Amino acid sequence: MDETENEGLGEQVPEPELCDLCGAVIADGSEVYFVVRDSSVVHRTNQEFDGRRLLVACGREHGRQLVEQYRDRPFVEPEQWAAKIGRALDQHPNGLSGAELAEATGLTPAQIEIGVRWQAMAATDWRSRVGLDGGPDGERS
Ligand SMILES: [Zn+2]
Repeated sequence: MDETENEGLGEQVPEPELCDLCGAVIADGSEVYFVVRDSSVVHRTNQEFDGRRLLVACGREHGRQLVEQYRDRPFVEPEQWAAKIGRALDQHPNGLSGAELAEATGLTPAQIEIGVRWQAMAATDWRSRVGLDGGPDGERS
């Protein structure tokens, strides 16, 4: 299949950026970009950018504060592996075998297993936090 991803060719109106700290709209091109390590992030296509989050700030002072916030965030490897697995599966809607998944993610089978478990654990944690389980004694299926 040949998919073209050339939507939006022609006129391109640059979207104004929002400061990731204060939410200010930056429409005059004065935004400042920063990159921080963040294990929850994988790049959509390029593995070289995995684990890095691009931040936009309205100025260097807010950028500095953002970078400091992320410096305190632990880099959780299973979270990063889970994100890589998620990306690989997104790109292969028909599913992947264990070997194919290892190939697509560059992870070892052990890392994949840990990543999958981490993902399941995080999902459970998230559900109980937003109350979808009906509380800690919610029924399991
Ligand atoms: Zn700001």
